[in-house]
Amino acid sequence: MKFCSECAFPVTVAIPEGDNRPRYVCTNCGTIHYQNPKMVIGSIPVWEQDGELKVLLCKRAIEPRYGYWTLPAGFMENEETTGEAALRETEEEAGAQVELGKLFTLLNVAHVHQVHLFYLATLRDLDFAPGIESLDVQLFAEHEIPWDELAFPTIVTTLELFFADRARMREGEGGHGFHTRDITRRMRADDPAPEQPD
Ligand code: ZN
Repeated sequence: MKFCSECAFPVTVAIPEGDNRPRYVCTNCGTIHYQNPKMVIGSIPVWEQDGELKVLLCKRAIEPRYGYWTLPAGFMENEETTGEAALRETEEEAGAQVELGKLFTLLNVAHVHQVHLFYLATLRDLDFAPGIESLDVQLFAEHEIPWDELAFPTIVTTLELFFADRARMREGEGGHGFHTRDITRRMRADDPAPEQPD
């Protein structure tokens, strides 16, 4: 941030009185511009046929991570609930209608100031198509998941946890759990791009 959104004067970085962190503070009107983490909300849309379960992934048509695969997800908007955000992103990116299930992962991505939430979801039908932010949308069985071409660590983690739960369920041990993780890894050591699904 360089300029105050209230009065357009330059901002400076300072620790306000009674605070303990550096903030952007306006040099003219004194407004303190707090910055807080953003919520990224997505779904894990699945389709089961003849005993085989497939997961819907979108190939990104935008940077960062153009051409890599992701679960439908994006930034939560003001005045919507987390469930509404998951439904909207799934519709926008995959053109898909889903029945939302339980919240499945809560992933802290502290180094990029984000929290990612993914809901379990069941496709209502096979009527899906790439939205403007996707090049392609496809269903993948577990053995078909393009693990080396996934866009973000939170997608990798969510799919790993999802299929680990499925393996336990095949052994007759319960259903999907709710998982929280702190994500510190990046996709590649030489990749400086912040992870920002949208
Ligand atoms: Zn100002």
